[in-house]
Amino acid sequence: MQNKGMVYLVGAGPGASDLVTVRGKSLIEFCDVLVYDYLVYDELLTWTRPGCEMIYVGKRSGFHAKPQKEIEALLIRHAGEGKTVVRLKGGDPFIFGRGGEEAEALQKAGIPFEVVPGVTASLGTAAFMGFPLTHREDSSSVVMVTGHEDPAKPETVVDWNKYAGLGATLCIYMGMTNLERISRELIGAGMAGDTPVAVVRWATLPRQESCFGTLATIPHRVAERGIKPPAMIVIGPVVKDFPASSWYESKPLFGKRVVVTRTRRQAGELARRLTGLGADVMELPLIRVRRAVDEAVKREVFSGLGSYDWIVFTSQNGVRYFFDLFLEEYRDLRSLGFVRFAAVGPSTAREVEKFHLAVDLVPEKHTGSDLAEALIATGSLDNAKILAVKGNLGGETLIKRLEDQWAMVDRFEVYKTEPTDLSLHPVARRFREMGAHAITFTSSSTVKSFVQQAEFLQLKPGAVTPRAFSIGPVTSQTMSDLKMPLTRQARQSTLDSLVQALLEEMIRPEFGIDSRKDRKER
Ligand code: SAH
Repeated sequence: MQNKGMVYLVGAGPGASDLVTVRGKSLIEFCDVLVYDYLVYDELLTWTRPGCEMIYVGKRSGFHAKPQKEIEALLIRHAGEGKTVVRLKGGDPFIFGRGGEEAEALQKAGIPFEVVPGVTASLGTAAFMGFPLTHREDSSSVVMVTGHEDPAKPETVVDWNKYAGLGATLCIYMGMTNLERISRELIGAGMAGDTPVAVVRWATLPRQESCFGTLATIPHRVAERGIKPPAMIVIGPVVKDFPASSWYESKPLFGKRVVVTRTRRQAGELARRLTGLGADVMELPLIRVRRAVDEAVKREVFSGLGSYDWIVFTSQNGVRYFFDLFLEEYRDLRSLGFVRFAAVGPSTAREVEKFHLAVDLVPEKHTGSDLAEALIATGSLDNAKILAVKGNLGGETLIKRLEDQWAMVDRFEVYKTEPTDLSLHPVARRFREMGAHAITFTSSSTVKSFVQQAEFLQLKPGAVTPRAFSIGPVTSQTMSDLKMPLTRQARQSTLDSLVQALLEEMIRPEFGIDSRKDRKER
């Protein structure tokens, strides 16, 4: 019997990718078909597995959304073929998401389905603005209401009279085009003109824009600030205009698009730090790293493992793949014998320390040649046997320098770095369209891949040209060789130092955190 397909109606949350539920994320990673809307953020789309079919059904400037019936038919057809379908919707699927209609259609067609809730836009808005929706003194109920008036319908869909006297916090979805009318009708129905209102566009995203006013002034304030849909309108005394605005919008890199070019696996740490500072992180994995080892070399290295004085690591990947290989062979760390470890920098050292092994040497500056000098300074190299664990690129400066000192160096290549293909990558598309304020390079290979893929990364007219940041002298040299302009190099070759360089450069007066008017898109 053919495996019956399944549809998951999944809430994508209000925007920020880390606000999707754990269950939602695992389904996105697992599904065969992903059917998604306009209000779903790109980052989530990169979680799908290779081969997952992605179907866009939303509306975007000028293009109309697929008719609802067609979407329902699409879900039924794919699930009918035995596939696992994720129907991903902004916010929560059952709050103004037509999730109810889709569930009904699936039920009728006999297709099994499940629903995964999401953080709806009003909750995301309140959280990221820092005001509550209920308050012991100010409001004891919340209304989620649509402000959308369907032009095809002659009668008014929403009777604002009903809502004016409730004393509830009103969260109005899709109300922007009718804001003036909504405000007029609520006041006409007896709501105080000085009731506080907040309008928030792209809440929870680094491009969040907000504006405060009162029921009487808000249409004017919004027009003045040029805030466009999609936005949430929150009305009620819970809305407070904090002088510093929201905790989120006050972050130092808020609103800045920063490109991280490391491999997917390694991007995490840098991306996390930048996101924490409010940046709009665009992960553009320019390179991919995979395990690659010559079996004959491996046998030779492992058979003589006890004879090395030093094992030298020049990258985190090197450490990881070396120990993978080693533990597959020996399963016991004691087989390493008595050997000393050297690592090029603190991140590489940390990777070794994960195995509860102490690192004997980390140079003060974190480049291959500094590592060589530090090793030489130990005075232990004469006739020493050294194992240099490396990838297919780099490491040669270090090795040559050690060989000059009469050390016997065995090269052990355990991984390969390859450029990735970005032609269809959703983040590359966003980069082309909008550009970025900064781009970070953490290795020469990412710089080279960037130049090789220039064609797919060509900025459209009007896109912001990013300032370029490099992690250290070797990467900077590669940039200069390839005629790429460099804005700033990290003082020490560490992620901390790279983030510091970015902060120093991006928070200069002309980008001041107080020049809020300039912080609009672009
Ligand atoms: N199912 C969604 C709502 C879809 S209706 C949910 O639960 O959030 C679309 C409306 O939601 C938009 O017109 C806007 O009013 C609101 N909206 C969605 N995402 C938003 C965001 N990030 N910031 C502000 N409003 C948002």
